[in-house]
Amino acid sequence: MPCPFCKIIQREAPAKILYRDQQVTAFHDSHPVAPVHILIVPNRHILSVNDLEDEDELLIGHLFTVARALARQEGIDKNGYRLIVNTGAHGGQTVFHLHMHLIGGQRMRHPIG
Ligand code: AMP
Ligand code: ZN
Repeated sequence: MPCPFCKIIQREAPAKILYRDQQVTAFHDSHPVAPVHILIVPNRHILSVNDLEDEDELLIGHLFTVARALARQEGIDKNGYRLIVNTGAHGGQTVFHLHMHLIGGQRMRHPIG
């Protein structure tokens, strides 16, 4: 089955894209768990954190600076938010194209773990 996030990045599948550049694409999660729920994904198909190379450190740093910019743009930077990168089965990863969740707009209720 083709990767759903690659299809979004290649504009072959619909998504509400908020930001894109040479390295990453950010779009609204289709099943938001909070008023703000954005996914930030590398444009390159990387399965998970386990599949990162040492050379990807700048790319991963870029995910964070894009998250910071989007949090500000969405007006949740002052109150705070949660960034999540689920990895593998125990991590709850369901889409195997590395992604960072940016979740906010309400106080986070569920504990992690
Ligand atoms: P994870 O469980 O960390 O792998 O998160 C996958 C996330 O991708 C979930 O929050 C889904 O709601 C979201 N998702 C899956 N397919 C799509 C899609 N086509 N467009 C937007 N979000 C999606
Ligand atoms: Zn992919």
